[in-house]
Amino acid sequence: MDKFEILKKYFGYDCFREGQELLIDAALRGQDVLGIMPTGAGKSICYQVPALLLSGITLVISPLISLMKDQVQALNQAGIHAAYINSSLSEAQISKALVLAAKGVYKIIYVAPERLETPGFLRFAGQVEISMVTVDEAHCISQWGQDFRPSYLKIVQFIKTLRVRPIVSAFTATATERVTEDIICVLGLTGPEILVTGFDRKNLYFAVERPRKKEAYVKNYVLSHPGDSGIIYCATRKNVDMLYDHLRLEEIPVTRYHAGLGSEERRQNQEDFIYDKAPVMVATNAFGMGIDKSNVRYVLHYNMPQSLENYYQEAGRAGRDGEASECILLYSAQDVMVNRFLLDSKEQNPDFTREELLAIRERDEERLRIMNYYCMTKNCLRTYILRYFGERSLKDCGNCSNCQKEFIQHDMTEAARHIIDCIVELRGRYGINVVAGTLVGDNRAKLKEYGVARYASYGSLKDMSEAGVKEIINQMLMEELLTVTPDKYALLKVTKAAEEIQNGTRTFLWKECKKAPETDTKPDKKSKSTAVQKRRSDVLNSKGLELFERLRILRTELAREQHVPPYIIFSDKTLVDMCIKAPVNKAGMLKVIGVGENKFAKYGEQFLAEIRAFTGGRPEKLYFGEMEEAR
Ligand code: ADP
Ligand code: ZN
Repeated sequence: MDKFEILKKYFGYDCFREGQELLIDAALRGQDVLGIMPTGAGKSICYQVPALLLSGITLVISPLISLMKDQVQALNQAGIHAAYINSSLSEAQISKALVLAAKGVYKIIYVAPERLETPGFLRFAGQVEISMVTVDEAHCISQWGQDFRPSYLKIVQFIKTLRVRPIVSAFTATATERVTEDIICVLGLTGPEILVTGFDRKNLYFAVERPRKKEAYVKNYVLSHPGDSGIIYCATRKNVDMLYDHLRLEEIPVTRYHAGLGSEERRQNQEDFIYDKAPVMVATNAFGMGIDKSNVRYVLHYNMPQSLENYYQEAGRAGRDGEASECILLYSAQDVMVNRFLLDSKEQNPDFTREELLAIRERDEERLRIMNYYCMTKNCLRTYILRYFGERSLKDCGNCSNCQKEFIQHDMTEAARHIIDCIVELRGRYGINVVAGTLVGDNRAKLKEYGVARYASYGSLKDMSEAGVKEIINQMLMEELLTVTPDKYALLKVTKAAEEIQNGTRTFLWKECKKAPETDTKPDKKSKSTAVQKRRSDVLNSKGLELFERLRILRTELAREQHVPPYIIFSDKTLVDMCIKAPVNKAGMLKVIGVGENKFAKYGEQFLAEIRAFTGGRPEKLYFGEMEEAR
């Protein structure tokens, strides 16, 4: 078999995605590989396909037990022999797995890094041919990354113990330069084929909303997406419990997760979510690592997270299957305070010196500020995120809440000039509160204490509200006309660029939203550009959606019988494609995206029967528009 036959037979796909082939070919040539690709881009295929074609075994090092189980289940469902070895198994189970592995039963074995130095495993590794070692979540090897795992350093030692050096392939979704360099250097990749794909997740819709009542917003949102799976992230356990109770009253199938729950309850709740018994999860950021659930249709943030890195990672758990999904952040100014409080009470690593701790704190503050700007920007949200991750020259996306709002632009150069004058006059000794208070001529006690009333700029923007002035200051920060000191005082300073405002060579434009900024209901979306992944309801007509529901129910039933999560049987994307193609026989079914020979043998007839029962065997159009256009 060649790589294309494997892709079709086991995974049910007709063609490789951008970049997959490059890495697969390299591995098959015996070259090391580094794949830096966002979540959902399809990293697994990049090592699973070569694993099946290489002569020996592929070891996949993965940090997360739940993820290993998930991947192995998915491979087994596809008809591929794979196993995992980690601390969730008993010693007897591990020995048995190793005996089978030594006999060559498994082509792919997932192991936790800790396992690599145990005598039993080393003995096994000495007996068999190991063609490739794949390092998943490879950023865990970097001390600069957010999730450094000392146990990852054992991988290097392990590889050295092998008689023949295997191909080493590494994959991650984290892409700062420093982390990339670390992966290459620490893992000792030799002349690796490196692939960095863009970080854009086209199927995700991004929005920032400022509802007056967040609970009501969440409740309405969840109720208007019945049957869909989603995650709602909150900053605190208290919020999780409150929202959980609130949603339960509405009889929403909801569960929850945070570090305050017992480990058994956490495990059970996580499983209920993964198996779609409770498809709606309310959780703190303790939830999600290692969750590979592909049919998460929305991720709501009840509070603003602490950094854009965190946000993109958490929001990115939506839509791993490539179907249109939504990421909505519910913002309130209070969130900034909550986050600062959380930073203040963050546990401090005693191994760090005072200077290092200070540097960490400054970095955290900076990240929080960037996150806050995301919530305030009136420009394209996707562009904002991608710029932050280093992608340049991007056009507005047409698929975020800012791209879909209408704004009126005002020339506010004069106000910007007053703000700059004020900061210069105050000699950069104050933060946003004092500066804004001075400009509007407020006379609260604190300001009197500082004696700001004697300055020429006192009251120079007295016709504006203090909140309005702050918004402009924030906008000026985003445009780098101003900057703040990187400590918790955040003292305002003017930058070199501010001169252009002062000498009249630059104008400062202010966007005002046409609609009222406070909304409790979701604004209707305007027609989207064609590049955007269409939502299920834009693709399937009402009969098609009805069939989708029936197939989804069938999938859930089969999943219960088989004790696997529903999305491992077929992804949402596959079910939608089934509704579009409405196949009547095996040949038709095999054309559906994600249906391979093995999956067909397992489930094909049952799904065919359901489709036949629904259409009565008559050809029927269950989607809008032309077929080509439907996907
Ligand atoms: P990652 O590990 O990069 O987050 P996965 O490997 O889990 O992504 O893949 C995400 C989804 O994309 C899975 O549902 C996978 O089956 C699907 N996928 C991967 N490669 C292809 C392909 N060539 N064609 C269609 N779907 C694919
Ligand atoms: Zn946009």
